[in-house]
Amino acid sequence: MARLSTCKNCGKKLQPEEKCTHASKTYCEECYQKILRESDEYKQLIEFICVNYEIERPTGFMFKQIKDMKTDFGWSYAAMTYTLWYCKEILGKQLNEKYGVALVKHFYEEASDYYMQQEQIRNQMEKLKDVEIKTKIVKQNNKSHINQSSSLVNLKNLLEGGDAH
Ligand SMILES: [Zn+2]
Repeated sequence: MARLSTCKNCGKKLQPEEKCTHASKTYCEECYQKILRESDEYKQLIEFICVNYEIERPTGFMFKQIKDMKTDFGWSYAAMTYTLWYCKEILGKQLNEKYGVALVKHFYEEASDYYMQQEQIRNQMEKLKDVEIKTKIVKQNNKSHINQSSSLVNLKNLLEGGDAH
């Protein structure tokens, strides 16, 4: 029997049809997707740095800072990008090549809080929208119900008209 390969990331034993290969390493489907997502997020972070620091490519110092934060704190590249965006757009900080991406380390928590707040607001807005839609449906249903009995409509108009004066 052929020896099963294992996922380089989680160590799971893999049947031949379960194997996914990335950068000539073997992974399970789940880890493969995670690695693809991570490599996407990494590219986005690098691109954000190049555009916003106005440099051709991140400096060696920046690469080291990013690697250290990933290793030491387990922060995702997407969260690092978000923190840089937060510093620049929300706090109006200058992004200075000299300090690399040191801002991320100092403002990571604050940016996370901000992100959570925004998410909460977004969720509340979604809920509010839901309520509005439901209210509209209820109103429409009421209307059609009333339309079925025109005498009731007339009576209601009269009463409402009377109230207004
Ligand atoms: Zn795996």
